[in-house]
Amino acid sequence: MASSSSSSRESSRSQVGSGEQQAPVPYRVGPSAYRPPVRCQCNQMAPCWTTSSDENPGRRYYRCRYGLTPGDCGFFRWIDRQATPYERPLLCDLRDAIRQMKREKAEEEQQMQLARRQLSDQMQVIQQLEKDKDELKKKMEQMELKQGKNGWLCLIYVVVVLLGLWFGLVYSAL
Ligand SMILES: [Zn+2]
Repeated sequence: MASSSSSSRESSRSQVGSGEQQAPVPYRVGPSAYRPPVRCQCNQMAPCWTTSSDENPGRRYYRCRYGLTPGDCGFFRWIDRQATPYERPLLCDLRDAIRQMKREKAEEEQQMQLARRQLSDQMQVIQQLEKDKDELKKKMEQMELKQGKNGWLCLIYVVVVLLGLWFGLVYSAL
């Protein structure tokens, strides 16, 4: 299983620490969830990482937990064998397909969020318009009520004037 030594440190560059974030597939178990523990020169358990590089896609390795920091003792050891010339491009293609799908999913989620925000804005506009409509309706009703009263007043006025004229005519005829 363990096929290499700390001489191939360069293969672990940029994978340590950020390995979990960059992994195309989430880790099934944590980097320290293996037994018995493999210890580095610091006498500490070396975490198990998985590289997704072009040279070694999906290949696991142990690395000093202080990798790429001033406390790094340089410990590195492969766990899995090297991929065959057939397996390597296949694993790289799968990795790239997963990354592409993740990118597309992230873009779609962004578009969904934008659409939700726009919908929410439009709903607010519709609510405001409905409020305005209700207020206008109330004002219209009040105006109609006033006009109705004025109509009755006009009619009474005309009747009074006509009665006055009629009395006037009757008295002048006497
Ligand atoms: Zn160490």
